[in-house]
Amino acid sequence: MKAVLFPGDRQVQIVDRPTPTIGYGQVLIKSRASAICRSDMGLYSGAYAVVGGDSAGKGQIIPGHESAGEIVQVGPGVDHLKIGDRVAVHLAFGCGHCSHCLSGFTMLCSSWKCLGFDVDGGNADYVALPAANALLLPDEISFAGGAVMTDMIGSQYYLQQKLHVAGNKRVAVIGLGPMGAAATLIASGLGAEVIAIDIIEERLKFSKTLGATHALDSRDANIKARILEITKGAGVEVAIDCSGSPIGQNLALDIAGKHGAVAFVGESSKTEINPSDQIIRKLLTVVGGWYFPLSAWSEICDFVLSRKLNVEGLISHRFTLDQAAEAFDKFDKRETEKAVFIWND
Ligand SMILES: [Zn+2]
Ligand SMILES: [Zn+2]
Repeated sequence: MKAVLFPGDRQVQIVDRPTPTIGYGQVLIKSRASAICRSDMGLYSGAYAVVGGDSAGKGQIIPGHESAGEIVQVGPGVDHLKIGDRVAVHLAFGCGHCSHCLSGFTMLCSSWKCLGFDVDGGNADYVALPAANALLLPDEISFAGGAVMTDMIGSQYYLQQKLHVAGNKRVAVIGLGPMGAAATLIASGLGAEVIAIDIIEERLKFSKTLGATHALDSRDANIKARILEITKGAGVEVAIDCSGSPIGQNLALDIAGKHGAVAFVGESSKTEINPSDQIIRKLLTVVGGWYFPLSAWSEICDFVLSRKLNVEGLISHRFTLDQAAEAFDKFDKRETEKAVFIWND
């Protein structure tokens, strides 16, 4: 089968690999869609891996952790799935028996393996996965839609449900890359008034089509005053930082109102904050937003379908796997937003 590897230094190899064999409790899918994510860029450059152990990012593991396809083989011990089922892939393969796995939070399992980082991922013609990680895709949702419904839509829906985002809330989304765009779509789908914030004019314009009420340029020196004006002096109930930058994270903490909540979603390793003024004196809740439990999948699908959310609209570019070098180069240079590999055969 055809597969992508990252040997490092922004090189892309397309190699011929044996089709994976599956064992007890596993299924094999024929890939139909696999999305590129900002967290792939550490493996692409060879500089770091946001998750994964020693094997991640060493040029041996096939990347791709936002994947969807069709089941072509079912291993022994799997009776709830069959050949031909359409599925999206939950990226966290857990041990299956610890308390985190049993509650569906396989990404919190101490021995979890991450698709596309520790184990071969979706940028290949076939992917082997535990049956528990095969998330059935409703007929109305395309494979491309299914791929972006995992890391982006799924993560944001679960996070925003946890923060009680609803029609009586003002939600600020900071950083309107693919994850921020998904955050905007979900928050407006939940009925909230969304204040979308970025420095790129096209992203601000796009956020309006996703349901944002206000689109603000974060380079505006008066942005905090503007948000206070919109919220009648109270600040927002929820601020979601998808930028991962210290400026974005601090803006989120500054504009969240009393009893408000801030979510850090954009990956980062270091930032400086002022806990007394930004958190303590406001009784703020600060949470991390990262992926969703297996148990949330059917609710995520129901939400997307009932609100008729255009999840495919989040995709800016489509490529074939043969175009992988071009696809990663353009994504790395931010010449695309969400880009997805598609198999039409
Ligand atoms: Zn991702
Ligand atoms: Zn476990």
